[in-house]
This record gives sequence, structure tokens and C-alpha cells, in this order.
Amino acid sequence: MAAFASYDCANCGKTFRAHTAGNAAANAYCSPQCESDGKEL
Ligand SMILES: [Zn+2]
Repeated sequence: MAAFASYDCANCGKTFRAHTAGNAAANAYCSPQCESDGKEL
């Protein structure tokens, strides 16, 4: 059962869709690079 939701990236602000059970649901970054950049800052 795939469950997708829309999130706004916490780093670049881009709206993206991600699996609700994935890391995006907790971290809210559109990509591993944005996640890295967001956390580094
Ligand atoms: Zn992003």
C-alpha cells in the first residue's frame, strides 16, 4: 500500500511528494543533498 503526501522542502522550499513512511515524512527534505545542506546549516 503506497501512501504519498506532499511536503515543502525545509531547505529549498520545493514542494515534493514522498512516501509517508519514508524519511521525508520526518525530515521534510526533497533530496538527500537538501537534507545534508539543511542539517549542516
Ligand atoms: Zn530541497
